[in-house]
Amino acid sequence: MKVVFSPRYEVTLPGHVWPTSKYRLIAERLGLNSLTRTDPPLASWDDLALVHTSEYLAKLRDNTMTPNDIATLELPWRPEFADAFRLMVGGTCAAATAALDDGRAVHLGGGLHHAFAAHGEGFCPLNDVAVAIRVLQRDRGINRAAVVDLDVHHGNGTAMIFERDPSVFTFSMHQQHNYPFFKPRSDLDIGLEDGTGDARYLAALAGALPGVMDSEPGLVVYLAGADPFERDRLGGLKLTKAGLRERDRLVIAAARAAGVPLVTVLAGGYAEDVRDTVDIHVATIEVMRASA
Ligand SMILES: [Zn+2]
Repeated sequence: MKVVFSPRYEVTLPGHVWPTSKYRLIAERLGLNSLTRTDPPLASWDDLALVHTSEYLAKLRDNTMTPNDIATLELPWRPEFADAFRLMVGGTCAAATAALDDGRAVHLGGGLHHAFAAHGEGFCPLNDVAVAIRVLQRDRGINRAAVVDLDVHHGNGTAMIFERDPSVFTFSMHQQHNYPFFKPRSDLDIGLEDGTGDARYLAALAGALPGVMDSEPGLVVYLAGADPFERDRLGGLKLTKAGLRERDRLVIAAARAAGVPLVTVLAGGYAEDVRDTVDIHVATIEVMRASA
């Protein structure tokens, strides 16, 4: 199974809650090296334009982001971030392509679900998941796709991008009383109460997955956010590591049983101790590897 990763994902964000070291730490735990990983290409501006507006892309390309744009993005923006995030979009495109070829693949990155067509927000300058789906629809002839977004935060950008597109089924299960305040409608939204815990979470997920697979996707993109974890600083759903592993197993088994290509991306993870976030993401990849 291909695992797409670049050491260039580790950008310096002084004092920021996002540990971009997690990508390298996961790669180290998996024993990935330059021979066993798949390096991503930079997403082209043409590929990005399948989702994002030319006005917004020009701001990234020409480094003309306004203070307001940067405040909404909630990142200490530097011009070189544009290429770092283009690379991360290229990683999701590469992993999604590998999933079509091999049945499954992992991107050790991505899940930038708060990016809209015309602006970035919430640490997400570009929507890698939406771009990858559009690229495969253009280049590989897939008709339908489904997004299973289990990051603790609602997938607002993805929901809005595909709001009027019946070819992409968007499913978000998230903490209702958490960022983002405005939650555009996905095809299926499950907003969970604070402190939901493993049992109720897994029951809701098991109930939802058949409806997702009924949309007959040609690709499932799974956002396996680590932030529903009980010791996450930005999440309040109180899932255990065992619960998160069972979550992964349910999603991966549903796609594999239906014979649908599956690409998994990491999305968020802000545990007090970064080693917990790494444990959760590594477990996801182990479940992917075991799903042959
Ligand atoms: Zn999140």
